[in-house]
Amino acid sequence: MTEKKDIKSLYLPELEQELALLGEKSFRAKQIYQWLHQKLAAGFDEMSNLSRPLREKLREEFELTCLQAVDVKISRIDGTRKYLFRLGDGNVIESVWMKYHHGDSVCISSQVGCRMGCRFCASTIDGLERNLTASEMLDQIYRIQADTGERVSNVVVMGSGEPMDNYDNVIRFIRMISDEQGLHISQRNITVSTCGIVPGILKFAGEGLSVTLALSLHAPSDEVRQTLMPIAGRYGLSEVLDACRQYFEKTGRRLTFEYSLVSGVNDNLDEARALASLIRGMHGHVNLIPVNPIKERDFVQSDQRAIQAFKNYLEKQGIQVTVRREMGRDINGACGQLRRSFLKGG
Ligand code: SAH
Repeated sequence: MTEKKDIKSLYLPELEQELALLGEKSFRAKQIYQWLHQKLAAGFDEMSNLSRPLREKLREEFELTCLQAVDVKISRIDGTRKYLFRLGDGNVIESVWMKYHHGDSVCISSQVGCRMGCRFCASTIDGLERNLTASEMLDQIYRIQADTGERVSNVVVMGSGEPMDNYDNVIRFIRMISDEQGLHISQRNITVSTCGIVPGILKFAGEGLSVTLALSLHAPSDEVRQTLMPIAGRYGLSEVLDACRQYFEKTGRRLTFEYSLVSGVNDNLDEARALASLIRGMHGHVNLIPVNPIKERDFVQSDQRAIQAFKNYLEKQGIQVTVRREMGRDINGACGQLRRSFLKGG
């Protein structure tokens, strides 16, 4: 038996082709696409303008991805929601919904686990389980929008996983979530965060998309960066930053540099100085993230004084800086921690 096609991962023209093979007209494909990507149908039975035999045929031919929320934690401080979703094969992933004054934002996972090995990150401890399909990335947003009843306007691909390590599915996801026949989320409101896989960044620059690229920088020298991120041993800073410059030149999108502050590792003023000279003249801003300690490692968050001093120094150098607001502190746990504690049954 051949595997059923994943209907929610198909672009509209692909769905039209598939339906043509079943002897159906292209307007049927449009109706189905709308059910899946605008009305956020959770099953074929909801597709009430299709005949029962057609729905039956669809069920035989296709698989319909629909994530099951197995846990939702809601912050009493700011309403942030952390969702734990079960996938069709039993794996679990997490996604976060945050409410900002400029709209609702969802942070999605791009892989089950991760193989990048960043030292401070919980998502990577057990390695990579598998890539997520486009439909599994889309459905994190669909299920959350259906649950909250509010339109999602911003998407950040900053949950578990390395998007450049699941390149084709991530591109498909971006095109589909921004498709006007779907939720039509503006590409300008989508951010993709990478640990710095150079060939991926260069290819991404040529896709004709206008999404924001965030680079996980975390240190201003290759030496310190390598102690935090194994990928830094593969691609040096000058090469990574050069790829980012090309990304800006091709897309015109300002860059984001993420910098997680770890006490005594990368948070002193010498590092702020080195960081300023490293990115001077690049069109981007720095997002400082007080490191979120995970119990498997002994990294310590920089204290408020160090964070402020680091920020002030960069600002004096004319660099735009934000300190990431800790959303949902009461339900927190760093990226990937909710999933880990779920898997360990605790
Ligand atoms: N793989 C992508 C996206 C995943 S994580 C990347 O590396 O960019 C999103 C951001 O959170 C990255 O900058 C990552 O380095 C950072 N991060 C992961 N765990 C963290 C922790 N415990 N504390 C602070 N930042 C963390």
